[in-house]
Amino acid sequence: MQLDQGPTSNARRPEGEGRGITPWIALASIPVAAAGGYFVDSIATGWMIAGGSAAVAFCATMFFTSSDQDDSQPQSAAKASAAAAAARRAQAAADPNAGKDAASDVLARAMEVRSTERTALLHAITDAVLLVDSHGETRFANKCASKLLGEHATDAGTRHAIEALPPQVMRAVQAVIEAGGSERRRIEAELKDSAATPVAVLVNLVSDCPQALAAIIVRDVRSEREADRMKSEFVAKASHELRTPLASLRAYAELLADGEVEDENQRREFAGVILSETGRLSTLVDRMLDIGRIESGLARANLESVDFNDLCLRCVEEQQGEANRRMITMKVTRTERAAIAAADRPLMKQVILNLLSNAIKYTPDGGEVSVEVDTDNLARSVVISVRDNGLGIPEHAIPRLFGKFYRVENHEKFAKGTGLGLNLCRNIVEAMHGGQIGVDSKVGVGSRFWFAIPQDHAARKAA
Ligand code: ADP
Repeated sequence: MQLDQGPTSNARRPEGEGRGITPWIALASIPVAAAGGYFVDSIATGWMIAGGSAAVAFCATMFFTSSDQDDSQPQSAAKASAAAAAARRAQAAADPNAGKDAASDVLARAMEVRSTERTALLHAITDAVLLVDSHGETRFANKCASKLLGEHATDAGTRHAIEALPPQVMRAVQAVIEAGGSERRRIEAELKDSAATPVAVLVNLVSDCPQALAAIIVRDVRSEREADRMKSEFVAKASHELRTPLASLRAYAELLADGEVEDENQRREFAGVILSETGRLSTLVDRMLDIGRIESGLARANLESVDFNDLCLRCVEEQQGEANRRMITMKVTRTERAAIAAADRPLMKQVILNLLSNAIKYTPDGGEVSVEVDTDNLARSVVISVRDNGLGIPEHAIPRLFGKFYRVENHEKFAKGTGLGLNLCRNIVEAMHGGQIGVDSKVGVGSRFWFAIPQDHAARKAA
């Protein structure tokens, strides 16, 4: 979708502020670099309004201070005072012309240093920055412009850069120049390159400049678009997963409410379905919230010294009832060594219980499930493995297993689930504890899910 957004208000600086004499002198000698004082002014105000870029904000600060307050630029200030001293010395000398020449030489060198610094700063910006006239001819383009718009985009006096941009950018340049500074344009569109790179473009008038020039900033927004796409995909999958239990809840509740079920056993059975679907819904919502909190960085691990020998035993005890119901044998193999690591105990318990309940769920009645606690001295971590001799996982499914809402086809018939448990485990282990999680599996033979949690200094001392 191409969206050419209309004018927005231009936040201009107060009259007189930021108008050092220096840029004008430099403008006469080195036009592009010297115009930078005003040029960057238009970049900064525009981009910060449009969402902000730390680099550009930094760049703006540099330019304001360099053009407004010479004493904030120690090198330039030193050169300027050297120029003044040289001028005084020269004036004192017999030849008045010699003094003038020396002063203007030093001043010219100071201007050169300053304009080199400004140009370097513009090249360091990771967005494409262009200065164009009312015909769309390039006056200046930074290095990023050639990366984004093609190597000839930086050729001064050509229209290569503007032609690589969507046509509405040229229209915006003309509009802001005609409006004389009261307008700024923000455009979201795609480049004319083969990848149709999505970009956000800002067009600003370069204010107070004798020529009518516009500053264009082009940002590659591919990663933002990808993040948006992933968010939408998550919302679509989540809605789908929520709709399924909701539909069955509604159907069973309607049957009971209409009084159509006369048989007491059937009524009890339907109530049981409602109960289990409600449970699945609340697990689904809890997991979505937990994953959201971890991924947004809101969740923090409450680290304490966790004894995994002890924790695994407790988790197996908790699952014993379900295992007995399915006639599944469970055992724990603990290590002789101290299996202690700095971890969040409730979260570790959640991971072990999730792996254990999966092992029980995806193992036929009468199977075997075991938990093994070990330490990896080389990696200095505690390693927990949960093994089963159940269904196993096909090779093609393994890379997707820890993704969101993924369930192995055919397993749905075997047991109900959310497809979020393993993703939550991975988030807890890897994002919150700096550990690692993985699986080895063979269809018809069984699976071994494992995770490793790094031991901390205190735990090593205790071992
Ligand atoms: P679910 O709630 O569906 O079990 P998980 O994220 O925990 O969600 O697991 C994702 C999928 O991985 C499951 O749907 C199942 O297909 C597969 N899976 C997980 N653990 C096992 C296991 N021990 N044996 C076989 N398949 C498993």
